This record gives sequence, structure tokens and C-alpha cells, in this order.
Amino acid sequence: GVTVNGLHKKFGENEVLKGIDLDVRPGEVVCIIGPSGSGKSTLLRSMNLLEVPSSGSIRVGDDEITDIRTDINAVRSHIGMVFQSFNLFPHMTVERNITVALERVKSVGKEEAKRIALDRLREVGLEAKASSRPFNLSGGQQQRVAIARALAMQPGIMLFDEVTSALDPELVKGVLNIMMKLASEGMTMVVVTHEMGFARQVADRVVFMDAGRIVEQGPPEQIFGDPQSPRLRSFLSEVL
Ligand code: ATP
Ligand code: MG
Repeated sequence: GVTVNGLHKKFGENEVLKGIDLDVRPGEVVCIIGPSGSGKSTLLRSMNLLEVPSSGSIRVGDDEITDIRTDINAVRSHIGMVFQSFNLFPHMTVERNITVALERVKSVGKEEAKRIALDRLREVGLEAKASSRPFNLSGGQQQRVAIARALAMQPGIMLFDEVTSALDPELVKGVLNIMMKLASEGMTMVVVTHEMGFARQVADRVVFMDAGRIVEQGPPEQIFGDPQSPRLRSFLSEVL
């Protein structure tokens, strides 16, 4: 799981996170929703120390990632993160995109890395594309490779930031289906999303952020069916 305590983040004078407390239990799927600029990505990136908190603490699994004595590279190897932009290495084959980190970060042997890569590609329905280059794949396929690559590292938690936002509408479903399957297999997931249907269907808990704070959180039935705060009500009336 993840425990965020009193997290503040400033960029210069701009305080983007104003005291976030969040506890994600092992196996839980938490969807984060909220308007543009509310700090969703900054919160998610903080969980991986891609952003360094101004104050507060974050524990991921057994690791206090905000402790300066923590080896952040070791910690990151069991936190999977998938972004809106797929971030595949364009000059490498799909398979190599997956094996390279296994070999370099986890010191997995070449044959073993290849086997893992093909297993993960099969899970996302792309075993046949192992030798292709990313630019020969659709956006949806590239995103599925990015997910397979993250899963190959056997992460204890997966962080997703708007992974379907850049996709053509007909490609969104294939990616969401894979995330749904992961959730049903018990993966701990924190998902920043504009896909309210996904949040409603898959989330154990929905967290609504606005202006750097968690304004409201609860089970999807409550957040979508009986929103309490005026800000959440007006947000939902814009997006639903
Ligand atoms: P969106 O839905 O548009 O992705 P968001 O909720 O993910 O929005 P963030 O990307 O976390 O929002 O940004 C929150 C605020 O922090 C914004 O005002 C943004 O301009 C600012 N911000 C984010 N990253 C940086 C940075 N590296 N330097 C300066 N300001 C930043
Ligand atoms: Mg964002």
C-alpha cells in the first residue's frame, strides 16, 4: 500500500499540494479525479519521487521514500508508472523495450528477460508485435506495451496518469480492459483518470481533488450518486 501524510508541494511560490493525507491499502484501486491543475499528476509523481515533496512523508510498501537514506532507484523498481505519453524507446523493438530494464535494473539474464517480456506481451494481447518498433503500433497498442513493460518489473503497485487521454476513442477500451483485469487480479492501483465510467466501475474508492486538496472521497456509488460538496457537484455536472 501507500501512505501519504501531510504532503505539501510548492513550485516557487505556487503551492500545488496543500496538505494531502491518503492511505491506499494493498489490493485497493483508488481513482483520483478533479479539474485540470488541481494537483493530481503532482500527487502521483510524488509517490515515485519524480516530484520531491516540500514537506510531508510518503511510504510505499515498507519504504519511506521521502527518507533521504532510502535508495530511490531500488524503490522505483517496484513501483510501476504509466503516463499519458507512452514513453517507449523508439529505436528499440517492443520486446527490447521490456527486456532492457529487466537486464539493467534487475540483472535478469537475457533468456529469462525475453521469456518474461513475451509472457507480459501475451497478457496485453501483443505477443505478435514483439519484433515491431513502437512507431508501427497504434497509440493503444503502444500504451499496452508500456503497461506490459511496467508489469514485467513485478511492481507492488501501479500508478496510472491519464493513460487513455491521448488515445483515439476506439482504442481506449482495450487499454481500460487491461487495467480492469489487473484490478481484478488484486493489483494495488492509483489511477488518475477522466474516465468516469472506469472510476465508477472499477474503483474501490474515488478521491476528488481541487486546488491542491482532497475535497471529498468515498466509494464510487457515493461520489457519483450522492456527492456532498458543492465543488464536486459542479465538477461532476461538467464532466458527466
Ligand atoms: P491535468 O488534469 O491538467 O493533468 P493536474 O491535476 O494533473 O492537471 P498538475 O499537473 O499536478 O495538475 O499541476 C498542478 C499545478 O502545478 C498546475 O498549476 C501546474 O501548472 C503546476 N505545476 C506542475 N508541474 C510543475 C512544474 N514542474 N513546475 C512548475 N509548476 C508546475
Ligand atoms: Mg495531470
